[in-house]
Amino acid sequence: MTVPTADPVGTAWTIEDSEQLYRVPGWGDPYFSINSAGHLTVSPQGDRGSILDLYELVQSLRQRSLNLPLLIRFPDILEDRIDRLNSAFKKAIGRYNYKGTYRGVFPVKCNQQRHLVESYVKFADRYHFGLEAGSKPELMIAMAALNAPGALLICNGYKDSEYLEKAILARRLGKNCIIVLEQMEEVSEVIAVSQRLGLRPVLGVRAKLSTKGEGRWGISAGDRAKFGLTAVEIIRAVEMLREAGLLSELQLLHFHIGSQISSIKVLKDALREAGRVYVELAQLGADMKYLDVGGGLAVDYDGSKSNFYASKNYNIQNYANDVVAEIKDCCEAAKLPVPTLISESGRALASHQSVLIFDVLSVSQVPRVTPAKVGPEDPPLLRNLSETYEGLSLENVLEAYNDVTHFKEQAVSTFNLGYLSLKDRARAEQIYWAALWKIRDLVKQLEHVPDDLEELDQVMSSIYYMNLSLFQSAPDMWAIDQLFPILPIHRLDEEPVERGTLADLTCDSDGKIDRFIDLRDVKSVLELHTPRYDQQGEMEPYFLGMFLAGAYQEIMGNLHNLFGDTNAVHIRLSQQGYHIEHVVKGDTIQEVLGYVQYGAADLVESVRIQTEEALEKGLITLQESQLLLQSYERSLASYTYLSP
Ligand SMILES: *Cc1c(COP(=O)(O)O)cnc(C)c1O
Repeated sequence: MTVPTADPVGTAWTIEDSEQLYRVPGWGDPYFSINSAGHLTVSPQGDRGSILDLYELVQSLRQRSLNLPLLIRFPDILEDRIDRLNSAFKKAIGRYNYKGTYRGVFPVKCNQQRHLVESYVKFADRYHFGLEAGSKPELMIAMAALNAPGALLICNGYKDSEYLEKAILARRLGKNCIIVLEQMEEVSEVIAVSQRLGLRPVLGVRAKLSTKGEGRWGISAGDRAKFGLTAVEIIRAVEMLREAGLLSELQLLHFHIGSQISSIKVLKDALREAGRVYVELAQLGADMKYLDVGGGLAVDYDGSKSNFYASKNYNIQNYANDVVAEIKDCCEAAKLPVPTLISESGRALASHQSVLIFDVLSVSQVPRVTPAKVGPEDPPLLRNLSETYEGLSLENVLEAYNDVTHFKEQAVSTFNLGYLSLKDRARAEQIYWAALWKIRDLVKQLEHVPDDLEELDQVMSSIYYMNLSLFQSAPDMWAIDQLFPILPIHRLDEEPVERGTLADLTCDSDGKIDRFIDLRDVKSVLELHTPRYDQQGEMEPYFLGMFLAGAYQEIMGNLHNLFGDTNAVHIRLSQQGYHIEHVVKGDTIQEVLGYVQYGAADLVESVRIQTEEALEKGLITLQESQLLLQSYERSLASYTYLSP
């Protein structure tokens, strides 16, 4: 008979446990998964194409001097998203026998990076998808990038006569520009520009619906929304266009009730209201042909498939079905032909394609030492603490937890009053931490964890210092409490026994992540692996990935502490596995200094003059001064993040 050996900690852990813990199938399907090596994998073509080992990919990119933090874009994922959106509408159109078509437009504001927009335009061609611009600079990108004949170019945002002039003239290049009137001032302006040019624009109106969105972006709709025309204004706009002889050019109705619509019910209500406005516009004499349902198609960041704000309680097919069915109903009731349907889905197309990889620089853990013995000569506070610690058992965990927490607070106040030495305060804290470790081990045996002890993970959490600026790479996490899935991309066959929060490189205490996805909830600590150190005491590389952050984050990112753009690469699947389509090097220090008007030459000159003066005064040797200047100049050309 063989004696079973005790399982060393962690061997019973499987990759399925990791998948469940980090909710990978929920938010990542069909693009992200975990392989038997415990590495995160990417399937850029969803369930069709080949699979890349993300950890190995990162290693090989690092060998090409593409240092972390590194943004990896997978244009194949973008293509797959476009395919899915189109086929969902195709299916819905078939199912409801809808006598019109669907055309998507990508809102450029979601991610204006040239390579991404160019990839989009290439993939969009076969579906006649177009672009949406929300400002003059975006219109200029869209005009240059979009050259498929007849593809829609929807012109939103504030417009001056320069904007309008370009949008009208672009029709001469075969671009199907539709100018969406969002403010009353734009109605008279567009009439004037059209008369001046002697050209007829194609127009739309953005309706200010009463249906309010929910959550963060709910304010995009409703009576007091920033954009759109009220019922009264729509009537006036129609009259103005009629007088100018342009009513037949009013062909589109647009609405946008906000981004990340979590609940399908809100969408349905908006569709019903918009469908009615569409019908009425046609009856007022406009030559209606298009209905544009705006953005808002949500992304399931926590994988809960619920109406939680970080999720959505519908899939792309449900969305397409509702759009098609509701609009068909409205038009049928009024005996009107159905419109070409347009959606401006940004988040749903662009989020999945980029993955941000960053490394952990160091970890600050709660001390785990056996405390020194306490004797009768020690202060009563230490003796009480020690007694509680020694007497800890499964029966008294909760009481003991409250006691040690109380004693620790007392230690601090007694210290502040001058009755406890720094040495004894340190001993008290040591016993306190030792007690917490013991309590945490005991709690694992409990079936039901008392509420008070649930905070233990947070109290004992480690801080993982990451080579990243939250303000540059995930600004929405800081600004609007957005959640993104974050997890290690390797060691996923090992149990992550640590609980940690993440701190970034900036000197800002807001530069931290302590909100993580959970099932319809938010958790304050993330399960992470114990750092491993080599013989020199260097921490082994530990890589984390942030997912679904391909929309909005890059352009909203800012230069807090002058951490610049990260390195970025575009990876396409190929016969050989993959190839690197583009490399976009991140900002150098010289570049970010340029954004705040410092010239490299001036800076070097200033430091050079100071070294000369120091040399003259004998404060620095010639060799040291050379070293300093070389180091200064070298850094100007280097990455703003920490080097490996
Ligand atoms: C922001 C915006 C969009 C994109 O919204 P998503 O939620 O990213 O799809 C579409 N249309 C308008 C008018 C917008 O302002």
